[in-house]
Amino acid sequence: MGRLSGKNCVVTGAAGGIGLETSILFLQEGANVLLADVNGDALASALSKVKQVVGQVPGKTETFVCDVSKEDQVAAMVKHVDAWGGLDVIFNNAGIMHAKDDDAVNTPEAIWDLTQNINVKGVWFGCKHAVLSFRRNNKKNTSVINTASVVALVGSATPQLAYTASKGAVLALTRELAIVHAREGYRFNSLCPAPLNTPLLQDWLGDDKAKRHRREVHFPTGRFGEAIEQARAVVWLASEDSGFYNGQEMVVDGGMTRAYVTPE
Ligand code: NAD
Repeated sequence: MGRLSGKNCVVTGAAGGIGLETSILFLQEGANVLLADVNGDALASALSKVKQVVGQVPGKTETFVCDVSKEDQVAAMVKHVDAWGGLDVIFNNAGIMHAKDDDAVNTPEAIWDLTQNINVKGVWFGCKHAVLSFRRNNKKNTSVINTASVVALVGSATPQLAYTASKGAVLALTRELAIVHAREGYRFNSLCPAPLNTPLLQDWLGDDKAKRHRREVHFPTGRFGEAIEQARAVVWLASEDSGFYNGQEMVVDGGMTRAYVTPE
């Protein structure tokens, strides 16, 4: 028996990084998983990787192409899981950090709007349709996990203002939903990852050693985090092992936000 045995889970942004690693761990813990992403081709490759890594597991594994900033698509994604008996866990993880995102002066308004539409409105739609689904299917002991970031907690001198604002909003909305729905048995928590070895950041850093060092120096461990390290925390948040953990910001950052200076 896995920690998520029989749980019906939706993971957004499942084609890469944290979402893919989490989908794999969810399946290994006995869940049924709907992997959702806006990128259909990447989702197809992700599905082959999942099948290769997890092999034969009892749970269902399906994919769903969904742009989380479009409510009708999010509603259809969550509804898809009704045929499995209804949603138990949603990991609202899809997000972008746009290359043109900058400081207050230089961030284009269109980039601001795009970022809020995906990173904030997308999380709201995921939460909204999760609540509707939990009620429709008479669920208790459900878990919603929303991906924020450490930049929602600490200021960054390397600006990405639209992204930072969006992740602050994720913390605030998650906290409030946790309180509003606590007596229905629905838990809501945020995950705050540190900079990671995933395409979202690594493609953006590229070969620029100075840009890379500017970030690495803040880690007590001297390295970026790995997606799997986030995924392990998400499994705990999704499972009933965290049954009394609600409205919290789980910071998985190798101590980065606790450091004053780091070892040489
Ligand atoms: P990633 O780029 O590897 O994965 C993000 C996935 O989201 C991609 O597969 C992408 O196609 C998908 N996506 C983008 N827009 C979408 C949309 N409109 N609808 C549905 N899917 C969409 O990145 P990752 O590092 O795994 O990021 C996952 C989450 O973690 C994001 O919310 C990100 O902001 C957050 N995060 C990442 C880091 C980091 O350093 N990588 C740090 C802190 C927080």
